[in-house]
Amino acid sequence: MLLWSKFYSPTLKEVPSDAELKSHELLVRGGFIRKAAAGVYSYLPLGFRVLEKVTKIVREEMDAIGAQELLMPIMQPSDIWKVTGRWEDYGPEMMKFKDRNKREFTLGPTHEEMVTTLIKGELKSYKQLPVILYQINTKYRDEIRPRFGLLRGREFIMKDAYSFHATNNSLDQTYQDMYEAYSKICERMDLKFFAVEADTGAIGGNNSHEFTILAENGESNILYCDHCNYAATDEKAEYLPNYGESKEKEKPYELVKTSNVRTVEELSIFLNVSKSKIVKTMVYTGRNGIFMVLIRGDLEINEAKLKAYFKDQTIRKALPEEVMETFKVQTGYLGPIGAKCTLISDLSVKKMRNFVIGGMKKEYHYINVNHERDFEVSKWIDVKKVVSGDPCPKCGKALKMKKGIEVGQVFKLGTKYSKKLDALYVDADGSRKPFIMGCYGWGISRTLAAVVEQFHDEYGIVWPRSIAPFEVVVTVVNSTNSKQLEVGTQIHDALEGESIETLLDDREVSGGFKFKDADLIGMPLRITVGRALKDGKVEMKLRSSEDVMKVDILDGYEQIVRRAKEMLDTYRP
Ligand code: ATP
Ligand code: MG
Repeated sequence: MLLWSKFYSPTLKEVPSDAELKSHELLVRGGFIRKAAAGVYSYLPLGFRVLEKVTKIVREEMDAIGAQELLMPIMQPSDIWKVTGRWEDYGPEMMKFKDRNKREFTLGPTHEEMVTTLIKGELKSYKQLPVILYQINTKYRDEIRPRFGLLRGREFIMKDAYSFHATNNSLDQTYQDMYEAYSKICERMDLKFFAVEADTGAIGGNNSHEFTILAENGESNILYCDHCNYAATDEKAEYLPNYGESKEKEKPYELVKTSNVRTVEELSIFLNVSKSKIVKTMVYTGRNGIFMVLIRGDLEINEAKLKAYFKDQTIRKALPEEVMETFKVQTGYLGPIGAKCTLISDLSVKKMRNFVIGGMKKEYHYINVNHERDFEVSKWIDVKKVVSGDPCPKCGKALKMKKGIEVGQVFKLGTKYSKKLDALYVDADGSRKPFIMGCYGWGISRTLAAVVEQFHDEYGIVWPRSIAPFEVVVTVVNSTNSKQLEVGTQIHDALEGESIETLLDDREVSGGFKFKDADLIGMPLRITVGRALKDGKVEMKLRSSEDVMKVDILDGYEQIVRRAKEMLDTYRP
């Protein structure tokens, strides 16, 4: 019997001072989580119930596609990470420590090295493949800005799966199965989501989708098309470049004094030209040194596209002092004429004529510049940050943008890890080959926050039925009234008898206080035992609706259970 008076669920009136997002505020105020340190949380009984339900859904969908659960150590020796190069490459997000014998370890941020080492030498033959292994385990990442409660933690719970294949077709099949399993997980939680094409970033590989839950305050931007099924993250998004040919005749270029006018904004006012007549020169640096990237003045560069094109994750904007040292001129006056470095240009510049560009001299810009005639671009590539309104790369219709939260990502890794770690199987012809691999992460703890971000109102959380901590709360308005308490208890027992998880609010606090708490915590159905009992009635109300239904208790408790089931079946958060 679950009595709220005995249930440990401290709720708070005040908004926690570090809560920037509603999900963070509501999970703390509702007594689901408590902070231990930045990005490190305890799950209280309410939060743990939700966590367990999310875990169960994810586990069921993994099992359904033949993935096998195991559990790997969080503490991982450094040597396997040194073999793949990620001991250095992973960067400061990786938590490292030494044992008493000065041996180095990490608290695993992910498990590609671990799982590949685990199966190496024991998973032997093509006949055994494919094999899909997964775990539900705690991960550690020392995020620069742990924030938003469970959304970006330093200690968090992830489901991570890894698949091993002999052929690309087999990998494609598992990738597809995972994609469908992830869609089902979202659907079982009633979530509005997009599966979007994603950049593969530092993890490598050549194909990836992110599962993104729509939420106004999400950190991910997704571009999608209403007309065809195209959808991608803003890092990955492409578009149809359809820049018109300019009819202008080439004019001779001139160096003009622009004084301390440096930004595109200022320059367009100063010279009285539109921003699309200006070319911006940006400087980046990577493994092959410093290089320039040109783009039309009113557009932005997407750094992820540069990194992906050059397959170089170390690419970053050059610092002002690096720019000064190389070009002897400040950013703001940079341009390609006379610059001795690799010159990359975005496609947006290709058809421009007589444009404005930095003069490579303090306080000067060139006007009427034309590429080919005045400078040579070594590579024309798409590095533009796609924005809403740009033409869809598949069908040309205008793309739209929405914000969301990434909850899961699927990757085709290929042989990146198996080659480096020398994990081989014996193929049908007797030759030894590296496993073809895939990896598939799902943020279990992040899901709690993402769901609340999508489903809340001004009073609190509106949980989807499948992961609500309880399906029903029976609110006894005056728990010192023995008749009310008696009826409430009967209803609670009748519901529990039908396996409907029910919490009985028997606390000796005001009715108003109980209603507020019930709304804050967000159970799908509330059954109120209060004043209407004089007329033999109780009230039933869904969390997502204002409608109150009065039900006669004289019809018997089975009637109430039947009604509760009907209402829960129609309920949507
Ligand atoms: P992000 O871009 O948000 O940092 P990621 O690309 O680093 O995510 P993955 O390495 O693909 O994430 O991890 C798989 C899943 O783990 C993510 O889809 C997300 O749901 C979850 N996750 C990643 N980082 C965190 C974190 N710091 N806190 C909570 N969940 C996280
Ligand atoms: Mg990350």
